[in-house]
Amino acid sequence: MAVQSPPSKSKSNAETVHSPLVTYASMISLLTLCPPFVILLWYSMTLADGSVSQTLDYLSRNGLQGFLRIWPRPTPIACKIIAIYAAFEAALQLLLPGKTVYGPISPTGHRPVYKANGVAAYLVTLVAYVALWWFGIFNPTIVYDHLGEIYSALIFGSFVFCIFLYIKGHLAPSSTDSGSSGNIIIDFYWGMELYPRIGKHFDIKVFTNCRFGMMSWAVLALTYCIKQYEENGKVADSMLVNTALMLIYVTKFFWWEAGYWNTMDIAHDRAGFYICWGCLVWVPSVYTSPGMYLVNHPVNLGTQLALTILVAGILCIYINYDCDRQRQEFRRTNGKCRVWGKAPSKIEASYTTTAGETKRSLLLTSGWWGLSRHFHYVPEILAAFFWTVPALFNHFLPYFYVMFLTILLFDRAKRDDDRCRSKYGKYWKLYCDKVPYRIIPGIY
Ligand code: NDP
Repeated sequence: MAVQSPPSKSKSNAETVHSPLVTYASMISLLTLCPPFVILLWYSMTLADGSVSQTLDYLSRNGLQGFLRIWPRPTPIACKIIAIYAAFEAALQLLLPGKTVYGPISPTGHRPVYKANGVAAYLVTLVAYVALWWFGIFNPTIVYDHLGEIYSALIFGSFVFCIFLYIKGHLAPSSTDSGSSGNIIIDFYWGMELYPRIGKHFDIKVFTNCRFGMMSWAVLALTYCIKQYEENGKVADSMLVNTALMLIYVTKFFWWEAGYWNTMDIAHDRAGFYICWGCLVWVPSVYTSPGMYLVNHPVNLGTQLALTILVAGILCIYINYDCDRQRQEFRRTNGKCRVWGKAPSKIEASYTTTAGETKRSLLLTSGWWGLSRHFHYVPEILAAFFWTVPALFNHFLPYFYVMFLTILLFDRAKRDDDRCRSKYGKYWKLYCDKVPYRIIPGIY
């Protein structure tokens, strides 16, 4: 998911990374360019044969007026679909039972408490969606047919939601992990609160990132598959591979959701336009785009090729999961676990919190985390490649997500390295000496 941290001068108590490269210009560019990009992506995928050149040709002939003509209005039906989906997911988040789990202790000593009911919410959502279609109560093709309007409504609705987050951050922060940078654009863009909640129990980032954003990925993957079926009376093997891999990936995400609550997205990045708008709009549009493309481009791969891609994709998703699992198991057991059948090698690090307390932490230097410092990004990128490659190579656009993800994760690895270097100092240097590569062993 979309992630970066605010630039310097933040007076927030939330733990932040200070990147001098992030300028106001880049924030304003992202604020203004991402919404039209989402619409152009949808237009190219669904109405311009997945072709960038067709879209550019249309724009060069029709200019800004032409662009405004293709921007769908957020119609009442689109708003209704979003509102019902959001209310359903919010209700599941609040009402389904789940184990109590604790997030990491924040720099101000706050420890968020969660109800781990992600798998149940995921299963209920998918079963309910397929059942609505199966029993003829609601046809998911309606979602596909109003996709442009839905994205348009999401673009504006999520923007308003981010304004709400900004105001809430100023007037009614939910925890001590909150604060203002003193600059309205930074506060809006990067957010003010680390753990915003409505009431005591409704965690806003769990809703935006997991239950709305990631869940919509699975729901839309199914929607694309059903649309192709309804159009052609069958589903091409390329679509089956794409849908299966995306669903396995999202299933893995919900299986591991409590682990996600320990990652940078939740524990370091505050709730603002960057992460919340990203999860509410960018994930349902850009992340699902390879499937969106395949609806009108059914490719027959043949059983052997389809199975090869499927197995390769599953392997990558498994390795990515195992990297995250290995790190979390190592931390959970305080290093008293087996890593690849052996006692783990580690660095015993210490760091000082913003409150001046000295704490200790462990860095794993064997297993996946001994290959490179962010090896988990390699299978993440490859998995995305494998659920895109069923589209073959007639158009560049289905590969936009893989390219975006590669840039995002290379930037994230650098950002995380910078954050860990400033957190752990000489201990991080020891780790870098022992594990010199940032992402790709032997290369980078
Ligand atoms: P994590 O936050 O899970 O891991 C990085 C953190 O782990 C560091 O900040 C540090 O935190 C700790 N750490 C670093 N090195 C070690 C070590 N050797 N031993 C123990 N702990 C260590 O990373 P991400 O949030 O980036 O990734 C989590 C998952 O999300 C991955 O599977 C990734 O591929 C996926 N992801 C997907 C994205 C997408 O858009 N599809 C975007 C981003 C991530 P600490 O301060 O605790 O020491």
